[in-house]
Amino acid sequence: MASNPFTPKYREYVQGHSAEEREGLLHSDQDNDNNKVESEGRIYIDNDKDESSDGWSRSKIIKVASALIAILVFGAFTRALLRSPPPRTYSNLGFHGDLVRSNGTHDFKRTVLIVSIDGLRADYLDRGLTPHLLDISKEGLRAKSMMPVFPTLTFPNHWALMTGLHAESHGIIANVIICPFHYVLNPAEQPFLQNFWDPKTKQEFHYNKIDSAWKSEFWLGEPMWETAGKAGIITANLMWPGPPKTTSGASSTYFVPWQDKVALSIKLDKIFEWIDMPLEERPQLIMAYEPSLDQAGHATGPMSARVNRTLGEVDLFAKQLHLGLVERNLTDIVDIIFVSDHGMADTAHPTLIYIDDEDMLGMDGLAALEHEDGWPAMGLRFNSLANETYYLNKLLRAKESSRKDAEGFDVYTKETMPERWHFAHHERIAPVWIVPKLHYALTTREQGDVGMTKGNHGYDNTEPSMHAMFVAHGPFSSVVKTLQASRKGIVSGLLPWKTKGWHSTSDDTYIIDTFRNVEIYGLVMKLLGVEEGQMARTNGTVGFWDKYF
Ligand SMILES: [Zn+2]
Repeated sequence: MASNPFTPKYREYVQGHSAEEREGLLHSDQDNDNNKVESEGRIYIDNDKDESSDGWSRSKIIKVASALIAILVFGAFTRALLRSPPPRTYSNLGFHGDLVRSNGTHDFKRTVLIVSIDGLRADYLDRGLTPHLLDISKEGLRAKSMMPVFPTLTFPNHWALMTGLHAESHGIIANVIICPFHYVLNPAEQPFLQNFWDPKTKQEFHYNKIDSAWKSEFWLGEPMWETAGKAGIITANLMWPGPPKTTSGASSTYFVPWQDKVALSIKLDKIFEWIDMPLEERPQLIMAYEPSLDQAGHATGPMSARVNRTLGEVDLFAKQLHLGLVERNLTDIVDIIFVSDHGMADTAHPTLIYIDDEDMLGMDGLAALEHEDGWPAMGLRFNSLANETYYLNKLLRAKESSRKDAEGFDVYTKETMPERWHFAHHERIAPVWIVPKLHYALTTREQGDVGMTKGNHGYDNTEPSMHAMFVAHGPFSSVVKTLQASRKGIVSGLLPWKTKGWHSTSDDTYIIDTFRNVEIYGLVMKLLGVEEGQMARTNGTVGFWDKYF
């Protein structure tokens, strides 16, 4: 087809929609496709009018135009038909529940393997050091980034990934345990215990005391392994941060408790030991956790050689996982989802904000504190004799003052906390918070920078350096790609139409726009075929994944 005459207007059309293109790759665009055909027709007729100066009669022009449009539309539909996905791929949509599929030697049920690489900042994937994760994402899917919940800490986010809930809903409002390695690596960090206080039970949730941190009453909400278990699905948990049992008494079928410094090869063996189990015992949902990259990020900062080296190691781990599935002919049976909990910011040279300064809390304000929650943001609980309003007003005045670090922090109460953080409605959330911005750190004159790490997280969840990663591969991603290809087929055969999306590094790489990690629960449930009515209520978006299925 002579498409040249249309090129300028086609360009205009594309430019006019570039914002929409950035909105997200895999939006259902069937309707848009129809519009495009219509627009195309209009464009053709407009151009044809220009040619009418050749002396063609109006009716001749209309006839030729109609014929060409007919050819165009016929071509488009033929092309779309030719591009129809093979039935085998579509059958992935209904492959769940008790259905089994053979890998050639054994029967398998649809299986989901979710792996968390702690502290893998979204843009680490652009360093050229993770060829295997990128290869997997090229065959499957990748998101530009995944937005963690606030505070951007390990425990609040691992529990958000499991439950689909914000911190104020799931109750893990500060970091706790699996930064026990902070303490192990750097005992000087002890003053910065990442803990919080539950006024109701009068218990402290203590990050380096496993007994207290694993108490089920701290962990609210229903994790995906509990929902899956209720639906009769066998589950396995390899060190995912969280309790062995929820308050309702539910636990995963198989459970390997947290232990530091476990080699990736051992984790790999464990995962495949589960996958190689006989059908009746084999878990369909496997959750696995790896902390080494976060440890590296804290110890030497996100730009360090150690982070880059560790990134290579976890990338190799991803490759071996993927290859293990390929070798077993399971890539059309097992969905593998790589996620992280948060990113990592360079905090090697922070501006220190001394909260015991006279125009901040002052020494008397510090003495009036009953408990400080969290880190790097600080939740303040004053003792019952102290005048909380007085100290709050002092802090608010300091924020408005000419202190040179005044722009480096914010002071919030539960009433003024930014709504987008969903971090107010829980009694475990302290009444007053000082939240530092990136490149700032709260401390006292006595403490100084003792125990501070070269990298840290916990800041505003809209900061790109706090964003986590999402890479998926398996029957899910193949369905998404096939559906996407068939949707764009109507015009893509005729025009140099590019796949919608934020960005595509190659024609094969679909990159989903940034989404919130509270959507992951819904995705895993959908993949496992858990019915809508069996799912727990979450803070995720109703129908969020529908457009991808
Ligand atoms: Zn973490």
